[in-house]
Parts: sequence; structure tokens; C-alpha cells
Amino acid sequence: MEHPENNEAYKGLVVNEGVEHPSSVNPYLKKKPRKRVLSVAEYVEGIVKGDVTVLSQAVTLVESVRLEHQAVAQEVIERCLPYSGNSIRVGISGVPGAGKSTSIDVFGLHVLEQYGGKLAVLAIDPSSERSKGSILGDKTRMEKLSVHPKSFIRPSPSAGSLGGVARKTRETIVLCEAAGFDKIFVETVGVGQSETAVHSMVDFFLLIQLAGTGDELQGIKRGIMEMADGIVINKADGDNLEPAKLAATQFRNALHLFPAPESGWTPEVLTYSGFYNRGVKEIWDMIYRYIDFVKGNGYFEYRRNEQSKYWMYETINEHLRDSFYHNPRIEAMLEGKERQVLAGNLSSFVAAKDLLDTYFAEITKQG
Ligand code: GDP
Repeated sequence: MEHPENNEAYKGLVVNEGVEHPSSVNPYLKKKPRKRVLSVAEYVEGIVKGDVTVLSQAVTLVESVRLEHQAVAQEVIERCLPYSGNSIRVGISGVPGAGKSTSIDVFGLHVLEQYGGKLAVLAIDPSSERSKGSILGDKTRMEKLSVHPKSFIRPSPSAGSLGGVARKTRETIVLCEAAGFDKIFVETVGVGQSETAVHSMVDFFLLIQLAGTGDELQGIKRGIMEMADGIVINKADGDNLEPAKLAATQFRNALHLFPAPESGWTPEVLTYSGFYNRGVKEIWDMIYRYIDFVKGNGYFEYRRNEQSKYWMYETINEHLRDSFYHNPRIEAMLEGKERQVLAGNLSSFVAAKDLLDTYFAEITKQG
């Protein structure tokens, strides 16, 4: 065709069709808005599917102090309850340095290899603050387990009242079980009251002890030995082998001083070396023997029911305490009353009654 455009001399004028430019708006943005929190149904669905990311997010929600998070968390827990309970829960306690993290690493690998399934390691440490390094249940302390595809490790909820920290761990157990974790370890440091809290949420309470530390007597004094379903003396290796055996004998003798446990099970005392992985199989054979035994005589169910009851009352107590101490009128009065009591101007009982009367009046007014 005769046209200036087709003339070689005007080649630069040729207009090509060009490419279609993509939209400058992200096409996914409208379809899938970013959500800050999932819905209750999404949490539950993710957890029941065994999605560990969703499980972690739900645990974070359980641990949150924000009321709106708590409300969602409670609903998620409620809806996960029917899927929970199908596990064995083992409490593991020992003083710092007893070898808990070394042992849990080895125990965890052993049970996963021997019995299959999935393992969650949780912790109760009322003194812990996440910013401060040494935290129970911290992944870095359990090198092999932390990279195992069938394990889920969660450090202790951060510092708060023991009751509060323990309740969160107890709720996390429900979520983990719903996510298919059929073995739960709850680690706690062997000082203070945290053992009682752990004892109230596990099927088997394992106490790790060391030879020659005088802990034998401390354990008896603090009432921890009565709680133990099994006592294991760690670091039974090298020069420490004989002292460990001797300690085991002492613990066995000491156990005779206590009344027979309600379970009908006689607590066993074993020696082992977590570091060299010796005697670990025997410990887990014992724990599984115990589970069979208490499932057979009905104590397993009984203990879990008693624990549910305990946590109902614990939760009530915690909420009542919170509601009382966070009441603005009470907060305003408390220090003054305390000063009057300290100065001897008011008796403890009258002060308490004044505060309680004020609190109940406030509550009635609000209602
Ligand atoms: P945790 O504070 O109870 O968690 O104790 P760790 O697991 O961190 O162990 C404390 C120290 O004891 C570490 O230096 C371990 O290497 C050592 N340890 C742990 N288990 C054994 C064991 O079976 N034998 C020996 N000899 N040392 C061990």
C-alpha cells in the first residue's frame, strides 16, 4: 500500500501494537484481605488439621492478656475440647542442672521412635520472662527434638501468677491434643509450687534427681516426693555411677515412709544417664506400664476427672481474685487499708471486711 509509513525513509514513525500493561493494583488485595486474627472457626479447623502454624497462633492467643484475645481463645478451646484428651501427659520436674533439657531431648526421641505419634513439650515456669534467656521448654535447649518434624516445643507462658501461667499451659494441652499431639511433656523447674500445678495436669509425674546433692531430704520436706509416680536419678555415668545407685537406694527407702499412693501404683526409682542415653528405655517402659496399670484399675479416668474439677475451681478463684483486685474502688482503697493495718489502727479482719463489703456493693451496683 502507498503510504508514507511504509516508506523506508520514515521507519521511525511506525507504531507497533505494544504490550498490555498489568494493573497497578495488586489483584489479590481485594480478594484476600490481610487478617490480624483468624476467626474461631478458622483456628479450630487449622488446629484439627494439625497445622502447627495455626496451633502456635492459637497458643499465643491463649497466652495473651488482652480481653478480646481471651474471648476468642476461650471459644477456640471450647470447640477443641471434643478432639482433646487422647494422649498421655507426663510432667517432668527437676532442679536447674538436673538435666531436664538433655533428658527431654533424649526422652522425646525415644518415645517418638518407639511409640510413633506426635510430641508436644510445654513448660511451667512462673519466674520466666521471655526476654531473659534461660527459659524452660526453650527450643535451643533441646537440639534434636527441636528439629524433629513430629515435635512441637513451646516455652513457658511469660511471668505472671503461678495459677495464671499454669492455667494457660493446661489450656495449651487441649489445643495440642486437638492438633493430634498424643504425647505431652510438661516441664517444670523443681523449686517452689510449680510441681503441684504440673501434677494437677499430668497422668504421670516424673521427678529427676541427682546423687549427693542433699535433694533427697529437700524433696521429702517439700512434699514433692509424694507426688512422684517415678523418681529417676540422672547422670548415672562415670564416677557418678555408684553414688547414683546409692541415691536410688536412699530414695527407695525414703518412699517407704509415705502412705501408699491412691493410684495403687508403687513409685519406682531408676538410675539413668540422659547424656549417654543409658537407662532411658527402662524409664519409658515403666511409664507405659504405669499407664496400662491405671487404665486397668480406673485411676487414669479418675485422676483426669479430679483434675478437671481442680481447674474449674482454680479458674473461679483466679477470676474472683482478678475481679476484686482490679476493681477501681478496691485499687484506690487497698493501700490505705494496708497502712492502717500496719500502723495498728485497724485489725486485719475489719480491713478485709471493709474491702469486701465495698467490692460487693460495687458489683451489685454494676449488676
Ligand atoms: P536442666 O537445667 O535441668 O535443663 O539441665 P541440663 O539438661 O541443661 O543439664 C545441666 C548440665 O548437666 C549440662 O552441662 C549437661 O551436659 C549435664 N548433663 C545432663 N545430663 C547428664 C548426664 O546424663 N550425665 C552427665 N554426666 N551430665 C549430664
